[in-house]
Amino acid sequence: MAHRNMTARDMSLEESEVLAFPAHRGNDRTVCVFCGSSPGAKPVYAETARQFGRFLGENGYRLVFGGGGVGLMGEVARAARAAGAPVIGILPAFLRAIEPPLKSAEELIITPDLQQRKARMLALADAFVILPGGLGTLDEYFEVITTTQLRVHAKPIIVVNVEGYFDPLRALLDRVVEQGFARMEIGSYHEFVATPAEAIDRLTHLLHARAL
Ligand code: AMP
Repeated sequence: MAHRNMTARDMSLEESEVLAFPAHRGNDRTVCVFCGSSPGAKPVYAETARQFGRFLGENGYRLVFGGGGVGLMGEVARAARAAGAPVIGILPAFLRAIEPPLKSAEELIITPDLQQRKARMLALADAFVILPGGLGTLDEYFEVITTTQLRVHAKPIIVVNVEGYFDPLRALLDRVVEQGFARMEIGSYHEFVATPAEAIDRLTHLLHARAL
């Protein structure tokens, strides 16, 4: 196990095993992407994931993701890396065999469990982007939006609604509000966009606005 260039931040996280840590470059903004560990039923999902990963790199962002080289997760991370983005994977130890880590990630953080994986992702990210995915992706989406609702953070959340994949989620959220289980303001906690280009535009706008 390599402990190259480890920072104080990582050494204080006693339970996490940090395998490598790169010097950072770029615009110093970190985007956490949640998406499927499967490729999905249509090629457009992987195309979107690759395009978004490339845009992250081209725009100087650092990527945090689930660490696995599989499915859309692997597509985003490889494309981001190829376009020059520093890539940090965060993987729970028990998933190493099921979701083999992406070899080209610059930094791989191994956490003891899923809860600590999510906590690390939340802490490291300046913004969250959700691409199509399965139950794990939905779990992560609900984690970031419910913690916004509880005022734990106010980081931008952007959902890339590829070919209407997330339309049923939007309908469910409308129903939740309509039936009095959440306030109308939950609509302001996240933004739905249709394409990776729009996602990057909104990210840049929202993160720039915060930096002012
Ligand atoms: P999926 O969308 O189901 O393909 O999962 C996407 C990613 O979410 C995978 O890396 C899963 O391991 C991860 N995942 C699944 N359930 C959880 C959870 N409860 N907390 C954090 N990550 C999860």
